[in-house]
Amino acid sequence: PVLRVAIMGLGSYGTRVAEAMQTCTKAKLVGVISGTPSKVKEWQSKYKIPEKNCYNYENFDNIKSNPDIDAVYVITPNGLHHDQVIRVAKAGKHAICEKPMAVNAREGQEMVDACKKANVKLLVGYRMHFEPKTLEVIRMRKAGEFGKILFFQGLCGFTIGDPTQWRLNKQLSGGGSIMDIGIYAINGSRYMTGEDPVWVTAQETKTDNVKFKEGVDETIQFQLGFPSGAVASCLSTYTMNNLDRFFLNGEKGFAELLPSTGYGPIMGHTHKGELTQPVTVHQTVQMDQMAGIIFQNKQPVVPIDGEEAVKDLKIIDAIYLAAKTGTKVSIKL
Ligand code: NAD
Repeated sequence: PVLRVAIMGLGSYGTRVAEAMQTCTKAKLVGVISGTPSKVKEWQSKYKIPEKNCYNYENFDNIKSNPDIDAVYVITPNGLHHDQVIRVAKAGKHAICEKPMAVNAREGQEMVDACKKANVKLLVGYRMHFEPKTLEVIRMRKAGEFGKILFFQGLCGFTIGDPTQWRLNKQLSGGGSIMDIGIYAINGSRYMTGEDPVWVTAQETKTDNVKFKEGVDETIQFQLGFPSGAVASCLSTYTMNNLDRFFLNGEKGFAELLPSTGYGPIMGHTHKGELTQPVTVHQTVQMDQMAGIIFQNKQPVVPIDGEEAVKDLKIIDAIYLAAKTGTKVSIKL
């Protein structure tokens, strides 16, 4: 069956997902949840969405009695995901949630528990998990082509604009660059090395205390240690452009993805040469794959469920603690 999806939050990423879904073969945009009636009208005519599949933030619990919607994709500010996903679960619909799934691990775990209790799936928009060059590096690592993995570097950042946007409001964002973009290095360190970290150290720097208020990180460098002895060194920032690089080094070889997580073509090479896997629209592939995960219980190469997202949130909690205390923090995932 086709996965019939309602998008909650018709902002910039919601719009990108809606456009990408137009070429999906296993998923279809059939509904919207929005607080802005004019946007609902616009989407209705653009995507042929019937009136009965349109909701707002007050009444979307009624989706429970709508047999034409299978899943709700929550694409709102981070701080709202927790309550919204739990309401979706209570309405008996599968929840797809944008990253970061929540603003801390405790909230994330509550979301996992709520979805389990409601017997619905909880998936997270980790679009890189379906990206062909990324998957090729993972395949090579599993096949032992890099030998024993020793080191990962993840550099993730961009220069953020408008100081009044929700991304710079702790209440709505849950933090700063780490929540938004550094999470790609965190998640990437795990799927590139194939391990979960056991300790973290971190250093925070701020050049602008007005734009980046208390609790909103501008730049954090962090290091992760893995059980095998491999280490990762990462940088997350809201103050540098052209920063989107993964580098994996092993005893027998290496892989570099540059850019590694942007929307455009991912490019990269290894010690064996250039990566030539096809360029995809990440969101189209993600939504088609999610249909298979929800309906056929298909297992993705890299998990994208709520439990997986809680691991990243535990690491984020530990990074903030390490940066604040200047100590090495142990992590148990
Ligand atoms: P955005 O500001 O463009 O859109 C957010 C939407 O939420 C807006 O339509 C806004 O009207 C709505 N909203 C509802 N309640 C709100 C409130 N109380 N305050 C502010 N806005 C409210 O943001 P975005 O870039 O679309 O990001 C949305 C989510 O998607 C975030 O969690 C973000 O991390 C995630 N995201 C993921 C990717 C990715 O590549 N996976 C890319 C961009 C954003």
